[in-house]
Amino acid sequence: MAQSNNGFFDNFGGKYVAEVLRRPLDELEVAFKEAMADPEFVKELETIQRDYIGRETPLLYAETASKILGGAQIYIKLEGLANTGAHKINNAIGQCLLAKRMGKKRIIAETGAGQHGVATAAACAKLGLDCTVYMGEVDVRRQQPNVAAMEMYGAKVHAVTSGSRTLKDAVNEAMRDWAANPDTTHYVLGSALGPSPFPDMVREFQSVIGKEVKRQVAERGLDVEALIACCGGGSNSIGFFAPFVDEANPRLIAVEAGGIGPGVGENASRMTGNASREGIMQGYKSRFLLDEDGQALPTRSISAGLDYCGIGPQLAALGAKGRVEFSSALDKEALDAVKFFAKNEGVLFAMESAHAGAEAIKLAPKLPKNKAIVVNMSGRGDKDIFITCPVFRPEEWKEFLISELKRLEDNKDIHNADLMKDH
Ligand SMILES: *Cc1c(COP(=O)(O)O)cnc(C)c1O
Repeated sequence: MAQSNNGFFDNFGGKYVAEVLRRPLDELEVAFKEAMADPEFVKELETIQRDYIGRETPLLYAETASKILGGAQIYIKLEGLANTGAHKINNAIGQCLLAKRMGKKRIIAETGAGQHGVATAAACAKLGLDCTVYMGEVDVRRQQPNVAAMEMYGAKVHAVTSGSRTLKDAVNEAMRDWAANPDTTHYVLGSALGPSPFPDMVREFQSVIGKEVKRQVAERGLDVEALIACCGGGSNSIGFFAPFVDEANPRLIAVEAGGIGPGVGENASRMTGNASREGIMQGYKSRFLLDEDGQALPTRSISAGLDYCGIGPQLAALGAKGRVEFSSALDKEALDAVKFFAKNEGVLFAMESAHAGAEAIKLAPKLPKNKAIVVNMSGRGDKDIFITCPVFRPEEWKEFLISELKRLEDNKDIHNADLMKDH
């Protein structure tokens, strides 16, 4: 079931939207199918994937890590080497190229932590499209580096002041904009969720990860026991798994945020957690973390990208039938995994991806040496220094921030003012 049946993956998915969004969604579905069947479009996509994103991304044998753990050979798909630092660009570029083909000049997107906003802003800069990113006011304040990056790429960041002023309010605002401007505007949704056709479309644009891995493991003759990916909305995992879901092997393991523990509000474990319920939110039917009234519960994770109350409908369906196994990693286990792979492999995992790394550390020792497991490093960890440094070097980091602040204040009137003159 690589493809949905009329927007449904068994009984998950669908298109539960207000009437005004039916037409843009239906038009998008038709345009997407036509584009993917057009060799010209596919060639254009492959060229930009190669020259701009930097595909294909390498598959690294983590030799030292494997030896230390003493079991299966660990391979790491270095998706974090993609331009902009993570897999999100695969989807952003794909959708923006499609929007251009549809004659749309304006792109809107939602963003929580800012990663999807940055990828979309970059894709729009590359393709010459106008870009507006909706972001909760609370998130704008706590994610300044990503806001600055989006603005450098020329995007307008629209701070959303309704509701809890976070991701779900940004999604609502983006949907409202799209409903008002369907002819000029395309809404680039950031993960493999939302109303159909987004789950199918995002999976297809991310499946480049899985297709490359399939080729790379075949070239090396690896006996792959399992693929492991972290799972927020589910775009990197479903893209990684897609070419394998209709086969019996390998095992497919999606790792959710275990946060600080199993209690309600302490994690973002939509499939394995205590408050996991079936529901309909933001246009699709899936599993969510909900209270008894069906309202979204607060979630918690050290990684911004996994900190979300819903999961893509295809993964919910694949989980229900047992094809995809779900596990979780605690914040602490993810931090340990960042350290382990940095020290032993010279590879700095994003906090999200480190959840998959943590699962590999647990699984590899239980498997024989002739088996391989492949971990998707969905992103690299440079973006996380504000999270990792306060944990690994709290005192030094604090002193650094204080001295930076002082430097800024001392220079404020002279140096920065001079630099800004021409801007
Ligand atoms: C956003 C993000 C994720 C989580 O999103 P998915 O849609 O589940 O892939 C994972 N890793 C990184 C690096 C991210 O930026």
